[in-house]
Amino acid sequence: MAQSQVCVTVRATTTDQLRQRRDAAVEADLVELRVDGVEDLDVSGVLKGRSKPAIVTCRTVQDGGSFDGGEEAQRRIIAEALKCGAEYVDIEWNGSPDPRITKHGSRIVLSSHDFSGRPSDLADRYSAMRATGVAVVKLAVKAKSLMDLVPLADLGCRAKRDGEQVVIIGMGGPGVASRILADRFGACWSYAGDAAPGQVDPDRLIREFRFRELSDSTEVYGVLGNPVMHSLSPAMHNAGFRAISKDAVYLPLEAADVDDFFSFADAFRISGVSVTAPFKEEVHSRVRESDPIGKRIGAVNTLQRVQNNWRAMNCDVDGFLEPLLSRFTIDGWRATVIGAGGAAKAASVGLVESGVLTKICARRQEKAEEAARVSGATVGVFPVEPNSWDLLVNATPVGMTPQVNESPLPASSLDGRLVYDLVYNPSRTLLLKEAAKRGCRTLGGLEMLVAQAKRQFEWWTGVQVPNSVFETAAKNGLTSTVE
Ligand code: NAP
Repeated sequence: MAQSQVCVTVRATTTDQLRQRRDAAVEADLVELRVDGVEDLDVSGVLKGRSKPAIVTCRTVQDGGSFDGGEEAQRRIIAEALKCGAEYVDIEWNGSPDPRITKHGSRIVLSSHDFSGRPSDLADRYSAMRATGVAVVKLAVKAKSLMDLVPLADLGCRAKRDGEQVVIIGMGGPGVASRILADRFGACWSYAGDAAPGQVDPDRLIREFRFRELSDSTEVYGVLGNPVMHSLSPAMHNAGFRAISKDAVYLPLEAADVDDFFSFADAFRISGVSVTAPFKEEVHSRVRESDPIGKRIGAVNTLQRVQNNWRAMNCDVDGFLEPLLSRFTIDGWRATVIGAGGAAKAASVGLVESGVLTKICARRQEKAEEAARVSGATVGVFPVEPNSWDLLVNATPVGMTPQVNESPLPASSLDGRLVYDLVYNPSRTLLLKEAAKRGCRTLGGLEMLVAQAKRQFEWWTGVQVPNSVFETAAKNGLTSTVE
């Protein structure tokens, strides 16, 4: 089980509010009280009546916080926190000896932040900070790639082996693994909240990623893409692992490029990933073993590690067809797919294979032709002509959050029988609402998302999980995910 603790970071603009948020962090092992944004700061009031150990942090604007009252005032706040019995105070390392460390070293978290990237002298910086004799050394650097995390993990694990208390964090999207797999980074705790780029909400960290149950033997899966922080796949697959009591976790893996992913996946022994934009095609070209659909489309959405190799497959086609064919009889229908990207190819392959007369309509003719070549569909004109379809599939991102007031077609052209929008966020797009008003039946993209995730999960684990597990997790994720 995880040895790293959960430190919930709370921020507020008033002392009262900060205390309330502190007390609301019931799942925390300790709380970081960010006093730098508090306008009526009463340090003893912030600490009074706490039930968990606290770190008092007063971070300046220059170091990524919001305190702009000057160095003297900042020192007074920290001195007051020490006087009031704070278990820890956070002090930013400035490279020179600090008399407060000599006196209060056992209660000091000595921090160094680098918002521009991973400095080349990180190990030397760590040694210098460690030599001061503080309780905890915290290094937070911007991770620009997944591979930026590997030296951080090495440094953290070395320090932990030497009995030192350390927190080493990669900030930003690619750094999320360092927060969830904090144990593998030697960290004595992981900061949870919304105070820094890439920080994970405490509830998500504990419940979705099962932080407290992770250990060195936990298998690691993830979603490879860029960006991926908005993805619902972690919510679904982690719910699946929980449902079958599998010791596995599924992370967002925001890679700089495909090489970055493969190197990181070897270093961290990643067992499998879902692949999303913009990597589906390049991953396909890099993997020797792929299923027939992946080969045909030239893109894959799933990877599985088999010893030191990868196997790939594409379950977008089956994921697209499952909700459609389980609910509707489309024999003899004419289908129009709008868009010519990966989703359009998967949809049109599925439709053509199901015997449906299919047209691809896209704003770029050459892309439509390419998608038609792959799938055996024909190319239609764009914008779509009136009375030309029974089934309309939107395979463009038009209508997706935050552009929720957009639709790929005017309401007046929604004159067919069924509209299938592959966009799943929001679950009811403007296109679907207008189609329903015009008397069409409708199908949203969430069901495809769930169907393809379920297939990925079964491929990795060999176990079937009820659709409802993925569906509930995806719906809950939709309401909590910030796009
Ligand atoms: P993609 O490869 O980037 O293709 C997007 C296509 O949409 C391209 O043909 C693009 O044309 C076209 N497009 C973009 N903006 C447009 C606009 N304003 N008007 C007309 N055409 C436009 O993306 P994808 O992977 O195929 O995904 C497309 C959508 O399907 C996304 O919203 C994605 O979330 C959704 N999707 C859902 C699922 C699911 O499980 N429900 C699975 C996969 C994808 P250009 O090439 O000219 O830019």
